[in-house]
Amino acid sequence: MKFFFKPLTYLTIVAFGLFACNSDDSVSDDSVSDDGIDDEEVAVTELHAAFAAFNTDAVTVILSDDGTEVNIETTGFPDHSSIYWEPDNALYIDEPGVTKTTEDTYIGGGQGEAASFTVDATPDLTGATVTTQLNTIGIAVSGASIFNDQEGMGDLDQAAGSLDWAGAHKGPGVYHYHLEPTPITSDDDNLVGILLDGVFIYGRQCSSTGTNPTGLDASGGHTSTTQYTDGVEEYHYHIINEVYTTGNYAYSPAYVLFAGPFQGY
Ligand SMILES: [Zn+2]
Ligand SMILES: [Zn+2]
Repeated sequence: MKFFFKPLTYLTIVAFGLFACNSDDSVSDDSVSDDGIDDEEVAVTELHAAFAAFNTDAVTVILSDDGTEVNIETTGFPDHSSIYWEPDNALYIDEPGVTKTTEDTYIGGGQGEAASFTVDATPDLTGATVTTQLNTIGIAVSGASIFNDQEGMGDLDQAAGSLDWAGAHKGPGVYHYHLEPTPITSDDDNLVGILLDGVFIYGRQCSSTGTNPTGLDASGGHTSTTQYTDGVEEYHYHIINEVYTTGNYAYSPAYVLFAGPFQGY
């Protein structure tokens, strides 16, 4: 398993100095996975074509020299509108149906939104699945974080009223998506982002058929071609085409972005 996630110290021009990196250093770098089988790292010679879809204003993607890992850095700032921008920001929109988590929390408000993590260039799909954490589980093409279907220690329903039109909120940490991020995808086959296991996640449709795929596994995954694989079949996730019903989300229909365990690592 290769897993590395570290919040970076958020730098602002008003900072009086550099703080110690606010890192939990949760680095685990096992060469032997839980099933006792050696993880064979598969090298690639160039970045996956899907990385071309990422917002380059926010996201920097670098292939390691040996071709086995991809380092992804993001500002955490999405390239679309939201009530979570400061009102004087060009991307701010009023969303009357949304109750912000905290009134004075803003994207770019200095809560450590930048992040850096490293994924296997070729996800290891053998061995056991890995449960997602209550934290960033992936990075969307917009530059913002992907979270799972849980909020804090509980159910997403209690926070659904604070989710904006993108199915995201901030409070007070990183701005993050829980639901189908409609600025990125809305019942189409667009790339949504990459999860920390190195597997890409797409919208509710699959480019291989032009329809909502059936027969997906517990993570919304299956193996087929995508618009970025040049005819080659590759394991990937989809947003599962199953309406998320909650009384207090301002927009409908809604779909949970990712609720399954990681199949990769
Ligand atoms: Zn949340
Ligand atoms: Zn597919």
